[in-house]
Amino acid sequence: MGRQLVDGHGRRITYVRISVTDRCNLRCVYCMPEDQAFRPLPHLMTRDEVRRAASLLASFGVTKVRITGGEPTTRSDLVGIVGDLAAIGFPGGIALSTNGVLFPKMAHDLLAAGLTKVNVSLDAAEAEHFRKMARRDHFQPVLDSIDLALSLPFDSVKINAVVIRGFNDGQILPLAAMTHGKNLGVRFIEFMPFGDNAWTEADWMGWREVMDRLVAAGYVLAPLEKSEVSGPADEYRVVSPLGEHRGTIGFITPVSDRFCDTCNRMRLTQDGFLKGCLFGHNDVDLLRPMRAGASDGELAAVIEKAAAVKEERHPMFVGMRKNMLPLPARNMSEIGG
Ligand code: SAM
Repeated sequence: MGRQLVDGHGRRITYVRISVTDRCNLRCVYCMPEDQAFRPLPHLMTRDEVRRAASLLASFGVTKVRITGGEPTTRSDLVGIVGDLAAIGFPGGIALSTNGVLFPKMAHDLLAAGLTKVNVSLDAAEAEHFRKMARRDHFQPVLDSIDLALSLPFDSVKINAVVIRGFNDGQILPLAAMTHGKNLGVRFIEFMPFGDNAWTEADWMGWREVMDRLVAAGYVLAPLEKSEVSGPADEYRVVSPLGEHRGTIGFITPVSDRFCDTCNRMRLTQDGFLKGCLFGHNDVDLLRPMRAGASDGELAAVIEKAAAVKEERHPMFVGMRKNMLPLPARNMSEIGG
């Protein structure tokens, strides 16, 4: 076996989420302010820099990679980046997180380049609620994206939905119903506090309450066994008054039920920082030494350092006011969700 990447708490890092841009064509209320300032383009990793970083990470036994942002499909070289990752080889898959708006234009090319999994963010199953969450009118292209992705031979197609009380909690049932006739995973994500989003504990809705809503509507959820690559979601097979569902429902619970003990992830931000924890502060700059001419050996040492300082746990949020929290200054769009 080759070298491994093990953090300072004995956890092996096998999954890296690479953000390729901080730009986005939506302005989801929980993610990005309407007037978000973006980093100058020369600060973003180039395609070659992403390839070099990914190749070093693969040499440490990272088996799965997710491309995220910002919105990755706003990058004109995205298909090339996916092709580079496929050439490096990630046996756990090459996944994409996208809002789906531009995805239909490149879906076939992404598949041909080696993309294996697609997660589309969708917080509402009805146009008016979509507009309220995303502050843009792109509902139909996103629905089309999901159907297109399902029609292509990707290994999995999932929807990620952030639930905010009083905002889109009325969409829980319509979103869950989308898993009835389609082989689609819908995962409800707990709203997380970041830099300048409007998180309050009152707006936050934990997974148990989402589950209670489903049960009250006659849903029966049977837990599916977790696999090595299933990520942080707890997933369930579903029977509802509609009948047996082809798809699954899942919960991602970073706020109520931290999954830090089993965390196998690191993030690489679009400006080239390795980040051990979404809520951590121990970011390590990989891009600056790369641009200064560091050798592969020197960059490998930087990667090992980033793993060594990966935080053990992120803070517990429930019962805390946002201004008491040691939150990172970056929003999710600037980290890479
Ligand atoms: N643009 C892509 C997309 O829409 O999936 C990738 C980037 S987006 C930042 C990745 C994921 O982060 C999305 O599923 C989004 O819903 C989630 N996200 C962003 N801010 C969040 C927050 N405050 N709490 C929970 N999830 C959040």
